Amino acid sequence: MAEERGRKVREIQAVVADVREETHDAASLLLDIGDEERDYKAGQFITIDPHQFGFLEQVIAYLEEVKGTREKPRAYSMGSAPHEPHILITVKEERFWPGESKYPPVLSPPLSRHCPPGTTLTISGFTGPYAIPQDAGQKADTVLHLCAGSGIVPNFGLIKDSIHRGDDLHHVLLYSSKTRSDIFYYDQFAALAAAHSEQLTVLHSLTREDPHQIEPASRKGRLDAELIKSYVKDLDRTLVYCCGPGVLPWERKEARERGEEPAPKFVETMIQILHELGFDKRQIKQESWG
Ligand SMILES: Cc1cc2nc3c(=O)[nH]c(=O)nc-3n(C[C@H](O)[C@H](O)[C@H](O)COP(=O)(O)OP(=O)(O)OC[C@H]3O[C@@H](n4cnc5c(N)ncnc54)[C@H](O)[C@@H]3O)c2cc1C
Repeated sequence: MAEERGRKVREIQAVVADVREETHDAASLLLDIGDEERDYKAGQFITIDPHQFGFLEQVIAYLEEVKGTREKPRAYSMGSAPHEPHILITVKEERFWPGESKYPPVLSPPLSRHCPPGTTLTISGFTGPYAIPQDAGQKADTVLHLCAGSGIVPNFGLIKDSIHRGDDLHHVLLYSSKTRSDIFYYDQFAALAAAHSEQLTVLHSLTREDPHQIEPASRKGRLDAELIKSYVKDLDRTLVYCCGPGVLPWERKEARERGEEPAPKFVETMIQILHELGFDKRQIKQESWG
């Protein structure tokens, strides 16, 4: 904690070095931060303030008026590990759905569609508690990653970092996606699992499509208690990192104003299952968005 407190979140000038179309609605940006120290922990995030983009000025002014509040910087988990030369973020484009969405999304459309190589960005970082402690190997043999959708981003960094450091942890990734075309980092995970089979087990779980020729392993359906249990060999020596869609603050507020509890999303469902399986909350780290 002392180490964390000593670190200052600062503004960093970044240049988009490369862009990869990750899926049909998400793009990976590789950010060059020059000589800035990569003094982050795998799994942490950066923030990007939408006010820096002149072309968003009018939209932001309008949204701030109707929402009655200043648009906040958006957080993006890093999918890179500190030993890698670039900061990797992967941005999934949010959409405005007439009749469903309250406002149009601000930052994810331009970041995922209109940030060609050479684009300069001011990012702030590095921060966030979603990281594996250096001494995790004293308490655990296995790290179980429960991820859905873009929630895979920080776990990609965690897994690469751990394999790079050669710690003794075995990683089990259970990754839920709607279809094959929604899977992030498909080739990289297949290659990592093949090259480091003693450190990494990967299972893709598809909710809206029968899996077909998916490497290294796949199944149909949501992540459920039976599946998770089958991958837990020694519960007391397992840590869990769970990331994916969760109930957003305004969804909770609006549900409570209607006198209801919000319907659980992926992260709330996973946490409930983990508690039923006997995990202690100290064994679990969670992160969620949209
Ligand atoms: C720690 C962390 C890490 C994250 N990492 C990633 C990542 O790796 N990749 C990624 O793609 N995203 C990530 N996110 C989500 C990201 O920060 C943004 O929330 C996302 O990109 C959407 O931003 P936006 O500006 O496009 O949409 P927004 O403008 O935030 O709008 C999104 C939706 O919310 C609704 N909305 C907005 N404000 C309100 C309100 N006041 N009341 C009711 N509804 C509202 C809008 O109608 C819209 O449907 C992360 C979030 C967190 C907290």
